[in-house]
Amino acid sequence: MKNFHTVIVGGGPGGLACATLLARQGKDVLVLERNSTIGPKVCAGGIPSVALGPGFPETLWERSFTRQHISSNWQHTMLQDANPIIRTVDRGRLGRWMAERAVAAGVSIATNALVLEITEDRVRTRGGEEFGYDFLVGADGSSSLVRRQLGIPTKKIGVGINYQMPGNFPDMQWHLNTDLFGNGYAWIFPHQDTVSIGVYARRSTSKPGILLNSLHQWGARHTLELKSRQPQAALINFDFRGWRFDNRFLVGDAAGLASGLTGEGIYSAIVSGEEAARTILDAGYESRKMAQLIKKHHQHARILELASGGKLAGKLVLEALVFGLRTGLIPFSALKMGIDQPS
Ligand SMILES: Cc1cc2nc3c(=O)[nH]c(=O)nc-3n(C[C@H](O)[C@H](O)[C@H](O)COP(=O)(O)OP(=O)(O)OC[C@H]3O[C@@H](n4cnc5c(N)ncnc54)[C@H](O)[C@@H]3O)c2cc1C
Repeated sequence: MKNFHTVIVGGGPGGLACATLLARQGKDVLVLERNSTIGPKVCAGGIPSVALGPGFPETLWERSFTRQHISSNWQHTMLQDANPIIRTVDRGRLGRWMAERAVAAGVSIATNALVLEITEDRVRTRGGEEFGYDFLVGADGSSSLVRRQLGIPTKKIGVGINYQMPGNFPDMQWHLNTDLFGNGYAWIFPHQDTVSIGVYARRSTSKPGILLNSLHQWGARHTLELKSRQPQAALINFDFRGWRFDNRFLVGDAAGLASGLTGEGIYSAIVSGEEAARTILDAGYESRKMAQLIKKHHQHARILELASGGKLAGKLVLEALVFGLRTGLIPFSALKMGIDQPS
């Protein structure tokens, strides 16, 4: 059995951000990823501009947007800013770049390495290999094994459905149609040569099959031919119940740090991955960024709870939100998880 200072389960943005920071401080780090390639993930790839801070090259951006179109049942608004509010990334490219950066820092990455068993001091993969650890980081997404092994349930979960297809749209669009999507929304997020069109909603209020039908109905109204294409769907865990558990940590979706309101989780994954690394390096480290992130997460959860209080309540809450955005009472930044620059 080979021993590592830190074993990280999951090679998504949370795991790779954590691994890079630890390895740069001379720690022996292993990332175990079940897939054969790092990067590809069902995702619309929309992230606040602050999410990929200094050190991330601009070539990673697919598109940058200074304008956001937001529609609800009764209102429409176009928000404009001098600087890009949100950008899009291709998850394959982002993952490859983050993995190369991690390896350059000295991280060992094993692909095709599904972790099946976790004990107090070691993990075992499907191939039967065992790796010992001083610290374990669960960066294994919304169905996290590390989380389950810690005995933490997951009750608040959303579902996202995405079509990545050819298309050319000038701006990003958010469609908060409560009749079709309940407290969720459909999006159009343009990339360089393709467009992400999809829908997100809390799973308890919208079953995936019904949500897909609603997306098709909405698509037909907007002359978007979706039905003939292949959708991809995945869960988004937003049931946050802590991130530090002695020598074990949960980051990103494994910790339930995605926004329950919007489903946005890349920024939270990167920030929590880096902050977990800083805490591993210094047990006395007080993470201001995690405090901010958790506060924002709770704010989004509260709005979602209000919007989940029945059809009329949902409609009124989302209309109030769009009204606030339209009149400037609520800044668009309130909808994003990004707060300040991750270093
Ligand atoms: C349809 C859809 C659209 C989305 N759109 C956006 C968006 O526009 N913007 C945004 O910010 N977020 C979006 N999200 C959410 C975003 O994808 C996640 O929040 C983000 O990927 C979380 O990163 P992570 O590193 O925590 O986990 P992940 O990216 O899920 O990475 C976890 C990794 O762990 C691996 N893994 C899991 N179990 C094991 C195991 N047992 N052993 C080894 N490896 C394992 C997985 O293969 C995966 O590579 C979207 C999600 C969906 C479903």
